[in-house]
Amino acid sequence: MFELSTLPYEYNALEPHIDSRTMEIHHGKHHQAYVNNLNNATKDTPAATVDLLTIIQNISRYSGAIRNNGGGHWNHTFFWSIMKPKGGGTPTGALMEAINANFGSFEAMKEQFNSAGTTRFGSGWAWLIVHDHKLVISSTPNQDNPLMDVVDVKGIPILGLDVWEHAYYLHYQNRRPDYIAAFWNVVNWDAVSANFKAATH
Ligand code: MN
Repeated sequence: MFELSTLPYEYNALEPHIDSRTMEIHHGKHHQAYVNNLNNATKDTPAATVDLLTIIQNISRYSGAIRNNGGGHWNHTFFWSIMKPKGGGTPTGALMEAINANFGSFEAMKEQFNSAGTTRFGSGWAWLIVHDHKLVISSTPNQDNPLMDVVDVKGIPILGLDVWEHAYYLHYQNRRPDYIAAFWNVVNWDAVSANFKAATH
C-alpha cells in the first residue's frame, strides 16, 4: 500500500506565501486522493509490489490511472520536500555555479522557470531538472514528471512547482504569476542542492 506522509512542517508554516487552508486541502485532500486512487488502481496487480520510482520511470507500461495518480503521489511528495518556512534566498556552492553556467544568472533561471509555469496551459508542473549533465527548465502536463519514459524532456527533477489551480486558487484566484513569484520565498535550497548532488554524483 502507498501511504501519505505527514508534512515536514505545519499547514500554516508557509504563510503568507502559501496559505494554511490551501496547504490543508492540497495535502490532506488532493494528495490523499492521489494515494487512495493509486492504491485502488494497483490493487491485485503486479504494480502493487513495485516501488513508486520504478513505476514512474516505466510509466508507459502502466494504466492511465496509475500514470495520473502515481505521478500525483510522486510529484506532491517531492513538492513538499523542496519547500520550507523562511526559505528562499539563493542557493550556494556547486548548485549556484551550475545555475550560472547553464543560465547565465540566477535571475535568468528564475525567469525561464516562471515562464514555464505561467505558460503551461491548464494543469501541470514547472521543473528544474538535470538533463544530460546540464540544468534545464521544463514543464509537464497533468501529473506527468520528467522521470517518466513518456515525456518530451526527460531528466532528474531537483526543483518543481505545482501550477494546478488547486495549488493557488483560494488565495491567488486567477493570478498564477503572483503565486509563482511568491513560491521563491519558500524554496528549500538545501533540499534542492541535495537533489542536485544526488543527480550529478
Ligand atoms: Mn497539486
